[in-house]
Amino acid sequence: MIATTAPHLVCLDDYVPILRAQEIDDLRALAKRLAGRSVQMVNSTAVGGGVAEILNRLIPLMSELGLVPRWDVITGGADFFEITKAFHNALHGVPFEPRPHDFETFLACTEQNRQRLQFDAEFTVIHDPQPVALIDARPPRSGHWIWRCHIDLSRPNEGVWEFLRPFVCKYDGALFSSPEFSQQLPIPQYQFFPCIDPLSDKNREVEDETVREVVERFGIDPKRTILTQISRFDRLKDPIGVLRAYQIVKRYDDCQLVLAGGSASDDPEGGAVLADVREAAGNDPDVHILDLPPSSALEINALQRASTIVIQKSLREGFGLTVTEALWKKKPVVASAVGGIPAQVIHKHTGLLTHSVEGTAYQIRFLLANPALAQRLGEQGHEHVREHFLITSNVRRYLALFLFQAREN
Ligand code: UDP
Repeated sequence: MIATTAPHLVCLDDYVPILRAQEIDDLRALAKRLAGRSVQMVNSTAVGGGVAEILNRLIPLMSELGLVPRWDVITGGADFFEITKAFHNALHGVPFEPRPHDFETFLACTEQNRQRLQFDAEFTVIHDPQPVALIDARPPRSGHWIWRCHIDLSRPNEGVWEFLRPFVCKYDGALFSSPEFSQQLPIPQYQFFPCIDPLSDKNREVEDETVREVVERFGIDPKRTILTQISRFDRLKDPIGVLRAYQIVKRYDDCQLVLAGGSASDDPEGGAVLADVREAAGNDPDVHILDLPPSSALEINALQRASTIVIQKSLREGFGLTVTEALWKKKPVVASAVGGIPAQVIHKHTGLLTHSVEGTAYQIRFLLANPALAQRLGEQGHEHVREHFLITSNVRRYLALFLFQAREN
């Protein structure tokens, strides 16, 4: 079981200055009816990536509200995570021919996790495809099992989806980040926006002095324009596309590029992508490629705050929490119109959407030339996040779902 990191001891009352006090009271009122009820969250990595990021805060907040949550992470060998990464890409529509052996490896690893973990909670939430087959570990007449899908399933690889779908159909419900991401299923489906915690080290206010200190530690000049993409080194995040866009901008405007990311234990491709990015960057001293360790929340916070513009040039995306984080920091964002990004970046209102390297470069130049607009987009983005994408809203949705499930049976 994961011990959630709590670098800052945050309690619900600390959110009052950010939200309305009434919202916190509403959460407490909802949670009262679930006091002492057990919740188990299961995913495939404890660090790196958006799901770990959310669970890290969801668990302590549920606990403070009187529920009894726990978080388990499945384990597996390199072969398992290579297959699940291929499945992940294939579900996002990347061409892939699954072999019978892939499915056997997937099921063998699921079985090992079934034996290792205990499933006795009243509400079990399984996150994403990697642990989806654990539904077969559900004890007879047990509690409620929900599948939380964080990825866009609208155009999946047929072979992979045909294999996974029967498992999904055994759940009591499925949660998707957007209605467009879902599939025809015989079970109820609910929309759950992902979220950020405004009080975590990743997002809380930090002193200008700290921001400057972090940026300078990485050799970045805080006085010059900084373009930043924070992402795992993953081809679908298109770091090389970001580099190409920067190279176009650089012909006209002085700027530095920061490509900062780390790896996730369930993503074996990171090293190869990082090497490709380094090679593509050559020896441009204004390109800063930062391979960050998992414990870099404050550094990422500072890098986002120091940025003139934040880019998210994903080719495919689940939701894109890095966009949420940047908007919360009132940053102008230039991002691809894929996955959950358009729910966050409303074109010309909370940021600018793009569809290509050239388009990304164009919008960056447009914002550099229009700082007042850039500022307004950032401020509107901040309000949009406050309204829809904060952890407290996510907790409220889970509480409502659990109450609904418990009432149904
Ligand atoms: N992240 C991080 N370290 C990194 C790269 C990313 O902590 O080196 C965080 C990032 O700040 C965000 C999450 O991981 O909170 C990424 O979530 P997102 O939804 O953007 O993408 P995913 O990695 O889940 O595809």
